[in-house]
Amino acid sequence: MAKEIDNRSRKPAPRQGPGVFTAFGLAAEAEPLSAGLYVVATPIGNLRDVTFRALSVLAAAEAVLAEDTRVTKRLLAHYGITTPLVTYNEHSNEAVRERMIHRLRQGQALALVSDAGTPLVSDPGYKLVQAAIGEGLPVTPIPGPSAVLTALVVSGLPTDRFFFEGFLPPKSGARRARLQEIAVIPGTLILYEAPHRLPEMLADAAEVLGGRPAVMARELTKLFETVRRGTLAELAAQFAQEGPPKGEIVVLIGEAGAEAAGPEADAALDEKLRAALQRHSIKDAAALVSAEAGLPKREVYARALALAKDKP
Ligand code: SAM
Repeated sequence: MAKEIDNRSRKPAPRQGPGVFTAFGLAAEAEPLSAGLYVVATPIGNLRDVTFRALSVLAAAEAVLAEDTRVTKRLLAHYGITTPLVTYNEHSNEAVRERMIHRLRQGQALALVSDAGTPLVSDPGYKLVQAAIGEGLPVTPIPGPSAVLTALVVSGLPTDRFFFEGFLPPKSGARRARLQEIAVIPGTLILYEAPHRLPEMLADAAEVLGGRPAVMARELTKLFETVRRGTLAELAAQFAQEGPPKGEIVVLIGEAGAEAAGPEADAALDEKLRAALQRHSIKDAAALVSAEAGLPKREVYARALALAKDKP
């Protein structure tokens, strides 16, 4: 059943004056802010995931620095906030940062947001925060949604240790090299990915990381929220067939050793390899079985070699 979230159907709140916002149809006065940079998390889809503190800061700030002012305008309009918007994104240069630092030095309160989620998490803001810290200016976090934790808690994968990689390189060679590097990190791996790259990314991950459990979390907090679980090989096969999905995606991968292991798994692998070796060369048999079982090619090849040598 579709979730009850559709931000488009909600009317914007009446525009309020400075320092006021509207929530649940009620106007609320924002708390006055002391000078400084406020790093404000905003929703990753469902506009109701914003915190009261975030609304209060956005309403009370002298300006909201936004990655794309058109996107943030919609959020502000939804809550009747009239604070002026200024563009701050990955193209903002030293001169823009200088201007922001100047405003902060003059005693202004500036709120930094990104299009969705927590600024600085695969989003602009790091250099501005660094510059503010370098000038001894106060930087205050206003926590809230981020796709990393939202996906992790619904994944069903271990949450005690995790590693956030963000986006992998778009080209296959560099992507595989980076996957090799992060393969040894203990804990759940969390990746952001563009939908059109998902099938090829999963194929690379299945080949490099083998049969680990994996989760694809799509459109979190939105109308078409979907969470798909399987092994990397299973997800890779599904998306190779279906083609790229639509929407925003987080991929999570269980840590090394989480794949099916033990004597039963070894016996099943041997059985598959023996059958394949009757019809194929060692190399081809290993390639076929590694793709089918979602295990690293090198590992399966070594086992196929051993079985071929043992053959009476
Ligand atoms: N700063 C954001 C955060 O805190 O999550 C991330 C910004 S990054 C440019 C955008 C990526 O985050 C998307 O490509 C996707 O991988 C992930 N993402 C953002 N919103 C999402 C959502 N609602 N569902 C799934 N993934 C999402």
